[in-house]
Amino acid sequence: MNINHITHSDCLALDQQDPLAALRQQFRLPAQMIYLDGNSLGAQPKAAFDRAQQVIQEEWGNDLITSWNKAGWFDLPSRLGNLLAPLIGAQAEEVVITDSTSINLFKAIAAALQIQAQQADGAQRKVIITERSNFPTDIYMAEGLTKWLDRGYQIHLIDSPEELTSAINQHTALVMLTHVNYRTGYLYDMAQVTALAHQHGALCLWDLAHSAGAVEVDLHQAQADFAVGCCYKYLNGGPGAPAFIWVPQRHQAQFHHPLTGWWGHAAPFAMQPNFQVTPNIRRALCGTQPIVSLAMIESGLQIFAQTSMSAIRQKSLALTDLFIQLVETRCARHQLGLVTPREHAKRGSHVSFTHEHAYAVIQALINRGVVGDYREPAIMRFGFTPLYTSFVDVWNAVDALSDILDNQLYDANIQRHAVT
Ligand SMILES: *Cc1c(COP(=O)(O)O)cnc(C)c1O
Repeated sequence: MNINHITHSDCLALDQQDPLAALRQQFRLPAQMIYLDGNSLGAQPKAAFDRAQQVIQEEWGNDLITSWNKAGWFDLPSRLGNLLAPLIGAQAEEVVITDSTSINLFKAIAAALQIQAQQADGAQRKVIITERSNFPTDIYMAEGLTKWLDRGYQIHLIDSPEELTSAINQHTALVMLTHVNYRTGYLYDMAQVTALAHQHGALCLWDLAHSAGAVEVDLHQAQADFAVGCCYKYLNGGPGAPAFIWVPQRHQAQFHHPLTGWWGHAAPFAMQPNFQVTPNIRRALCGTQPIVSLAMIESGLQIFAQTSMSAIRQKSLALTDLFIQLVETRCARHQLGLVTPREHAKRGSHVSFTHEHAYAVIQALINRGVVGDYREPAIMRFGFTPLYTSFVDVWNAVDALSDILDNQLYDANIQRHAVT
């Protein structure tokens, strides 16, 4: 393959050699669609349809309340957490799938601040460091919690990863970062940043929304302190699927968050008038879970169990390399700006380009069945999901993009939809 003149048949050949190619059959994908938005809403595992029928018809319909025991509904948050654990370098009984990423952030930040407040130097650790370009809800949740606590906590927003070294010091309580930036696709070195935080006595909370199922993550090897993440993106759990929260064994005994609902109680059915926290990871739970939605997550995780994150990562890098290469050769005269790092070690599984009419171009692509998305400011974002994206998909997507740009087949005055 001549990398300066990649052809459609080169892409076909890449698909034929791809060890993950057969997994695509396990997803329901509309025939005419090239779906490059699995980083925002993952595709539907075919098995989820049967699972939904089972939950609705048998478990809820026929067995009703007995399903809490009989169908294992009550244990679902931890049972699914155990299935997810190997994808993120977690051990069994350290992850639960529950609530939303936003709510799990609240719990993790609250617990981390409390652990720090109890240290000898806790009174002087009042700063949470995060990034201005973080996904907004992460910053908002930290803002909401610290305002409500009213104990002088401050949020320090860094403007680039390089600022971390000078920002972290003896006043830092928590470093809260998203492992792969939702907009740029920048991938942090988790082990390096965590070590830097620990050198200064700070704790490190990682948001894995764009990493879980997309890049190799080893929370234990990195000695991370806490993690949260999303199940409806690369994990294909379905729209609004509950999220996850990871607390390693070494922090579980000190992990206390203020949303002390009965599902985090040591004996929920003892119906005692006082809260007594359960000793295990279920202390990260609050109340009754959306079982129908939660049950959908298993089908996606079962597809991951048929391969490895290293195989997924290898294909992800090949897909994103190919996309960048093709866009830069075939759309060379259109002043697209690559926002995503070229360096493999710094790249997640999506690629973003800027263009003056980014929103209009994305809409034109979507109208042709090539589904990416738009993010402020002027960014076209394309997600590559190795379980179901093919190399020919990449070829066809760039083919459509170059045609739209070459022939100005977009409406520069287009109105924005509510969800971009
Ligand atoms: C997608 C995403 C979220 C989503 O949070 P919700 O509570 O599910 O709405 C949070 N953080 C990051 C970094 C994300 O990418």
